[in-house]
Amino acid sequence: MSSAPDTARLTVAEIDLGAFRRNLRAIGRLLPEGSRLIAVLKADGYGHGAAALARECEREEVDLVAVALLEEALELREAGISIPILILGPVPSERLADALEAGSILGIVSLEGLRDVARAAAERPLAIHLKLDSGMGRMGLIEDDLDEAARTIASVPGLRVAALYTHFANASDPDDPFTGEQLARFDRMVTRLAGQGVEAPLHHAANSAATMRRLVRAGDFVRVGLSLYGCEPLDQGSSRLDPVLRWKSGIVRLKTLPPGSAVGYGTTFRTTRTSRIATLPVGYADGYNRLLSNNGFVLVHGRRAPVVGRVSMDLVTIDVTDIPEAAFGDEVILLGRQGGEEIAAEEIAERTRTIPYEVLTSIGARVPRLVIESGPRS
Ligand SMILES: *Cc1c(COP(=O)(O)O)cnc(C)c1O
Repeated sequence: MSSAPDTARLTVAEIDLGAFRRNLRAIGRLLPEGSRLIAVLKADGYGHGAAALARECEREEVDLVAVALLEEALELREAGISIPILILGPVPSERLADALEAGSILGIVSLEGLRDVARAAAERPLAIHLKLDSGMGRMGLIEDDLDEAARTIASVPGLRVAALYTHFANASDPDDPFTGEQLARFDRMVTRLAGQGVEAPLHHAANSAATMRRLVRAGDFVRVGLSLYGCEPLDQGSSRLDPVLRWKSGIVRLKTLPPGSAVGYGTTFRTTRTSRIATLPVGYADGYNRLLSNNGFVLVHGRRAPVVGRVSMDLVTIDVTDIPEAAFGDEVILLGRQGGEEIAAEEIAERTRTIPYEVLTSIGARVPRLVIESGPRS
């Protein structure tokens, strides 16, 4: 993602490095003694543009960043990022050499993956992070895998387990006992591995939600994504930090329509009064969700204006009748703050029946990311 985009496009996502830095530091302050942050930058930094954020992580002396894919790690290296990168997802065996060449740390999530790295470690020593499935049922070794895993690890002197880790299924709900059960199972699995000679100097389990709930043991690392971007990881909470992304567009057409006029595909909206209808050059092809048709709001002059009619592929129509100062060329905020008002990712998520993660990662590749450096929080 370019940080010097063709700014002729009125629709851009501003990425506030200052906000990102404040979030990094705020999370750092929440951590117990000896604990450190792994900044999760997968999916192009949750849609923000991973390279600029990784560079900020380097400046802030973050120990480690994490991505899901080998391709994401290679893209960061291509951008000149030298910070250690943990690849969370499985890397196909035929790409292992590429991953190691790029200096990645591999998250090993299966016995097959472990055998692959054991083979590679016979030629050159390497360290892995080994994932244990404590209840997510997705990736990671289950209890029945542990004996074979221990034997595999013991058989290759060059293979070092630098960390054992797990992932929570429902840490966003403080009332759900499952998180505690997962921690207990993780502990049991760690103990069983230790009994077979596999010990790791480092453990990590907490995502944003668990970190905000302070479910972090001294010395453990945390893997934080969503909170870094300033969204709320708890089902019901107020742990939100500073939103990093601000999605802007502008008014490219403004017309006054008489009562009874139809707007958009399917004529799902009709004016009931003389109305000022503004058109914005953004649509569902940019990730502006079609479920926001007759349902979403944007900000114009610091005030909420409703989306009227259907969201089209490249265009959105809004009603600015109640914002008389709205004019051709004015800035419109699709997501973010303007004046005292805010359209939060959480609000869009609720209106489109999804989660803030999907709202952020859905913002399309054709929306230029414009990296800005803001001052202290206003
Ligand atoms: C995405 C991811 C995280 C980060 O989760 P957040 O809820 O965004 O903090 C942590 N660990 C793993 C394994 C992940 O896939």
